Amino acid sequence: MGELYADVIVDISHEELDKTFQYRVPERLRGRLETGTCVMVPFGGGNRPIRGYVIGLGEEGKFDPARTKEILEIAPEGVGVQDRMIALAAWLRKNYGCTMIQALKTVLPAKRSVKRLERRTLERIMDREEILSLLGECIRKKQVAKARLLQALSDQESVPYEWITGKLGVSAQTVRSLERAGAVRVVSRENFRNPVKLSGGAEQTKCLSGEQKFAVDEVLSDFDGGHPGVYVLHGITGSGKTQVYIELIEAVVSRGRQAIVLIPEIALTYQTLLRFYRRFGDRVSVMNSTLSAGEKYDQCERAKRGEIDVIIGPRSALFTPFPNIGIIVMDEEQEGSYKSESTPKYHARETALEVARLHGACVVLGSATPSLEAYYRARRGEYRLFRLTERLTGGQLPTVWTVDLRRELKEGNRSIFSRKLQELLADRLQKGEQSILFLNRRGYAGFVSCRACGHVMKCPHCDVSLSEHRNGRLMCHYCGYSEPRPGTCPECGSKYISGFRAGTQQIEEKIHELFPQVRTLRMDSDTTRTKGSYQQILSAFADREADVLIGTQMIVKGHDFPRVTLVGVLAADLSLCAGDYRAGERTFQLLTQAVGRAGRGELPGEAVIQTYQPEHYAVVHAAAQDYDSFYEEEILYREMLGYPPVSHMLAVQIFAGDEERGRTLAQGLAEAAGQAGGRKNSPPGPAGSCGEKDAPLSIIGPAPAAIGKVNDIFRFVFYVKCPEYGKLIQIKDRTEELLREWRPEATVQFDFDPVHIM
Ligand code: ADP
Ligand code: ZN
Ligand code: ZN
Repeated sequence: MGELYADVIVDISHEELDKTFQYRVPERLRGRLETGTCVMVPFGGGNRPIRGYVIGLGEEGKFDPARTKEILEIAPEGVGVQDRMIALAAWLRKNYGCTMIQALKTVLPAKRSVKRLERRTLERIMDREEILSLLGECIRKKQVAKARLLQALSDQESVPYEWITGKLGVSAQTVRSLERAGAVRVVSRENFRNPVKLSGGAEQTKCLSGEQKFAVDEVLSDFDGGHPGVYVLHGITGSGKTQVYIELIEAVVSRGRQAIVLIPEIALTYQTLLRFYRRFGDRVSVMNSTLSAGEKYDQCERAKRGEIDVIIGPRSALFTPFPNIGIIVMDEEQEGSYKSESTPKYHARETALEVARLHGACVVLGSATPSLEAYYRARRGEYRLFRLTERLTGGQLPTVWTVDLRRELKEGNRSIFSRKLQELLADRLQKGEQSILFLNRRGYAGFVSCRACGHVMKCPHCDVSLSEHRNGRLMCHYCGYSEPRPGTCPECGSKYISGFRAGTQQIEEKIHELFPQVRTLRMDSDTTRTKGSYQQILSAFADREADVLIGTQMIVKGHDFPRVTLVGVLAADLSLCAGDYRAGERTFQLLTQAVGRAGRGELPGEAVIQTYQPEHYAVVHAAAQDYDSFYEEEILYREMLGYPPVSHMLAVQIFAGDEERGRTLAQGLAEAAGQAGGRKNSPPGPAGSCGEKDAPLSIIGPAPAAIGKVNDIFRFVFYVKCPEYGKLIQIKDRTEELLREWRPEATVQFDFDPVHIM
């Protein structure tokens, strides 16, 4: 038998994680080492034994065999922060497919020399009463931005400068006018640590509602009984989920453990932050994308040293090196941003479960519209489900009108606004109330449908919408099936068959044609390109500088506009026909969120959903705000077609500079995957494999990716569906092996249970 060597990393805090040392694996340790194993190795001139981690195994010696040292032994089972981070990296590598170095770089903060930036804060110099009277004056004068800043300063003595232009959406000019008035001063400090100083005292404890108390008690009793579980907290916005998180975290922290709170960045409001600060003071830290690498590193060091108990942040906050995590909260767990788009393409939900397992922590998944994944497992008893059914903030659910756009056409209305929407818009303008028009373009892929009967061109094998390509053909993004674009509707023969081309800009023009006096604001990827513009548009709208806000899905998240009493969804079909299996789920979520924007304040709200498919279950149940009925139908569809969460799906993505080579490689790998999975008959191909429902494993594609070429790199993809995740891991491993053998001029990436279409 040949020699076996291990690449060992001895210092994971080193800047270059790829700096490894090769050791020989002694006979007695063969078969007992794997990536991630902690070992003792002799190090340096004196051969001092130190801990190291195996990050790769191979048969090729890189150095003079006589001078290669031997691994001493497997280190005793470690429970240190470092060991857990390595274990987590090994888990990421195994489950999502990447090198150990990539995995380590994901879980460990890059060590950089921490350059201390000068940080600015705004401090109030008037006392609280003066601030309050100034606040009253601003409210009377309707100086809303200024009022927001004063409000914050009445609660606390200082605010970080970034908050002012960021979360608070206040301009530098406004700050200057307050400076001139002698109300505040800007202070610059080096090495600024604690971002908030509170003077208002701790947040008073609320008396929990029965439903809230039940959830808190049950979670804690499992925790104290040594059986920390996974929980789904299902409740609409305003039903008190955040309050439950805070109570649970407080209890867990008082038991000497730490907490991670994951929040999609865009949804983290100033109000929510303040609630955490009030309860946990400077034991809480916020991680966001505006932090520099140095600051992130600094935060990790504080976490390691036990200076903080709670971290709030996006998915990467999961890798905070706390010594003893007790709870992980994931708010809005259905959000797509929890899935990493770069290798390793991990999902924060699954990764949170692994972190929790390593620490013996509980996991709370909160959502108004839980992901199918979470709800499916809750239904099967793997997770425990709690419901919060009352809205504690008041406000009623809006009245929803679903408008059939086919009828509008039949009755002679060719405008992008239905008659109902026009009527309600006119009414709001006349009353001086605000409206939101929403174009759910996310995932929009150029589907083609009939405007007379609503028929959508779909793939006969995958039951997802076909997308129109420049060559005039319609294509399936999964299996590559294609057909010519029909001239008339195959269902009803109508010639009104087309893609949906209206963009936010066009909607803005049209609304000015209809209502010349209307004041509009537009929020989409064009108008929010510059930093801070997103907040500026939101603040301007909150300050009532416009009657109508027009935008893409960006506008339906998080923010409360109490004066909005009308929400119009222009074409629910845009996300419904997105060309992937999550289209129904995403549409239900978007519509539910959009509808929920209306009627948050004292005034009752109305919502109009325009669609060519008013009978589609995602539309029907979103209009009724009925999650359970939606779930029942959606899970049936997933079951029938073998899509996650009922089955699992692995996307193998091929990137090649040469189109033919890319295609050949994709075909070769797909074939090999079929063999590795034990599927013998029917070669991989567009039509052959989609339909075999009972086959344990099926291959779909290969096909050119939805976006087939980027920067002159051709992209191909094929999918492997299988109920067993483990089998998909085997296929990934086999593919990696083949790539080492073939050495193609191409790169390959893996995406397990993909969320984003390539
Ligand atoms: P969610 O996170 O589900 O949107 P929150 O926890 O933010 O809900 O609660 C919504 C509002 O209700 C907040 O203003 C919060 O302070 C308040 N609230 C939450 N729980 C209670 C309670 N038990 N009693 C009174 N008010 C509560
Ligand atoms: Zn038709
Ligand atoms: Zn297909």
